[in-house]
Amino acid sequence: MADLSWLTTQLDELKAKGLYNEIRVIESPMAGRIQIAGQEKLNFCANNYLGLADDPRLKHAAHAAIERYGIGPGAVRSIAGTNQLHTQLEQDLAQFKGAPACLTLQSGFAANLAVIPALVGVEDVIFSDELNHASIIDGCRLSRAKVVRYAHNDIGDLQAKIQETTGYQRRLIISDGVFSMDGDIAPLDKLCEVAEEHNILLMVDDAHGEGVLGTGGRGIVDHFGLHGRVDVEVGTLSKAFGVVGGLVAGKQVLIDWLRQRARPFLFSSAMTVPDVAACIEAVHILNHSDELVARLWQNARLMRTGLSSLGFDTGNSQTPIIPIMLGEAALAQAFARRLMTLGLFAMPIAYPTVPLGKARIRVMNSAAHTTQDLEEALSIFAQVGNEMGILPATTNH
Ligand SMILES: *Cc1c(COP(=O)(O)O)cnc(C)c1O
Repeated sequence: MADLSWLTTQLDELKAKGLYNEIRVIESPMAGRIQIAGQEKLNFCANNYLGLADDPRLKHAAHAAIERYGIGPGAVRSIAGTNQLHTQLEQDLAQFKGAPACLTLQSGFAANLAVIPALVGVEDVIFSDELNHASIIDGCRLSRAKVVRYAHNDIGDLQAKIQETTGYQRRLIISDGVFSMDGDIAPLDKLCEVAEEHNILLMVDDAHGEGVLGTGGRGIVDHFGLHGRVDVEVGTLSKAFGVVGGLVAGKQVLIDWLRQRARPFLFSSAMTVPDVAACIEAVHILNHSDELVARLWQNARLMRTGLSSLGFDTGNSQTPIIPIMLGEAALAQAFARRLMTLGLFAMPIAYPTVPLGKARIRVMNSAAHTTQDLEEALSIFAQVGNEMGILPATTNH
């Protein structure tokens, strides 16, 4: 066997720099409170925006589907045929989002790897927001198209980059819908105007907006009222939908093309039966009630006002993703450790995920939290903020 001691060296280096990621083991369902190492913790880490990860209706739907269809898909859909649950979910999602057609993939990550290389290649150019998600970056690389990064949410810079980039065939603008580290929203209406003005394809990855933004969680295209004007909508079923899976929505011809050409669709098996059945139930729930989405936003508002009235800097957040800006990585790590000791699980985020000096605690809100959870959380944040000298001294008696 080959010598892998260089990996040990690399890992030791990460540990020395405080960049080694220790993954917590959870001994309970994913919910507003979870159990870690035998102890209950308030959970502000998950993307389980609507609390659907442990919803009894989704669990029931998954059980029933397993009884009828079993578990695994058997092979890729293009070879072994496709279970009718997959086509039903795709129809339901298209209808929910007000899009002509939809294709599901194994994950949001796979959806980006599926769609980008199917649309552009070596002779083409992609204009990509500098803060786009890793799966978009990888999808762009796989396509072998030229990638031109524009400054985050900066329409002026995008316009300038488009003007100075000539000689390519097809062109594609790609942006995250909601940016996962700051919780700010892409100006999709303006991106749409630019795309239309220059006749460029437009793609948005709405992973953190799916089930969160728009009427009853219909996503960023609904939020801005841009139905029929965004060529490609990518989304995930792994966040607000509480399950796992990815989706692409757009014109029927786009979806037909992906079924012929998208490699993660052609060469990797589909979402499992219980996943698909649970997602169908999630869409059904959102079609019938906006209660969970309303509770999510109410909780996020309570948390944001609570944190900023304590004196924390919550950055540019416009969504249920709320950063507590702390500055140095070591401070963010110490802050998170102290939160954990006091019974609250929240992630410290530092360079290279965010720029140097912009380390933070990322507070992920969810409809799964009760008002009591939030009040308890705020008092823990206040205590740690005071102890560590981050908050104005006045609140400390
Ligand atoms: C989370 C995320 C993904 C990945 O989604 P999965 O379904 O977990 O693979 C893709 N794009 C963006 C913008 C995300 O935030």
